[in-house]
Amino acid sequence: MTETIKELRPVARKPHRCDWCGGIIEKGEQYVRHTLKYENEPPYDWCSHKDCDEIVGVLDMSQVCADSDGISADDFEEIVYDAYLFLIETKELQPMRDLHEKVKYVLEHKDELKQ
Ligand SMILES: [Zn+2]
Repeated sequence: MTETIKELRPVARKPHRCDWCGGIIEKGEQYVRHTLKYENEPPYDWCSHKDCDEIVGVLDMSQVCADSDGISADDFEEIVYDAYLFLIETKELQPMRDLHEKVKYVLEHKDELKQ
């Protein structure tokens, strides 16, 4: 079981890479830093965009991945992608979006997911 030891929301003093979407967290941007610990292994940090952190809860990923031990970055991508496809299905052709842009799109349209 992976436990969260602490959660901080610092402002980036240098660019970081988001552990969820792989995109860049820009210097000066507020981000989320979880310190996690898996069983007896040493703790490690998991940095993410605020959007990426938020969508994990919005799409209830811990529930979707309840059978496996936590959510992997691959699970994250797949779940975001499914929600994104569902949202754009009935819409006009969409511009290309990278994973972080898909995250933002899904968050902007999250109310449509419940319909
Ligand atoms: Zn991200």
